[in-house]
Amino acid sequence: MPWHYWVLRKFATAEPPKEWEKILEELEGILPAKYIDKIEVASFSIRGKRIARWQFKEDHPEYSTKPNALRTAEKLNWLLLKSRNAPSISKLLISLLNKDRKFTEEITSCPICKEIINYDDFKRSGRIDPISIQMGYLIPLSRGKKGHNNKNVIWVHRRCNYIQDEQTVSETIQTLRQILERHGYKVSKNLKQTNS
Ligand SMILES: [Zn+2]
Repeated sequence: MPWHYWVLRKFATAEPPKEWEKILEELEGILPAKYIDKIEVASFSIRGKRIARWQFKEDHPEYSTKPNALRTAEKLNWLLLKSRNAPSISKLLISLLNKDRKFTEEITSCPICKEIINYDDFKRSGRIDPISIQMGYLIPLSRGKKGHNNKNVIWVHRRCNYIQDEQTVSETIQTLRQILERHGYKVSKNLKQTNS
């Protein structure tokens, strides 16, 4: 079931913008249904609660406007299509997905552990596999209002999402550094940083 139909059926008020139709058409030819479902559930609703994010009260941490939810789906798509060994995409799709969004062209990696994410990792079982892929946030939703947006969403390993918990990415790294130091490891500040 193509996801825009799913969105329209579930949330009759959601009307994807015109350019979105082109994106969806091409994506449906590339991505397995399971991947599309993963993106749509993460972007538009909440696991176990199939109501749209824009149907929550505005002060609810999971709340998102409809346009923001769509942009979130674009970002998650982009990151998925930039994972290692992902199928190649057309220039049209690149330009439509990246139009005015300035998404990074770099290969997608987990923001916590910095391991490159493989296209096949999205198939891993979220129930049992620590390196299965989940949606996460650079700044946790508990930290502020309207955190479900395209600047804040990321793909992250299940394991790394648990480690991050209610911390920002940089707080998580601090925590890990402190743990290592208490275990007797020396962590150099001059360690060459890979791209953040
Ligand atoms: Zn990770």
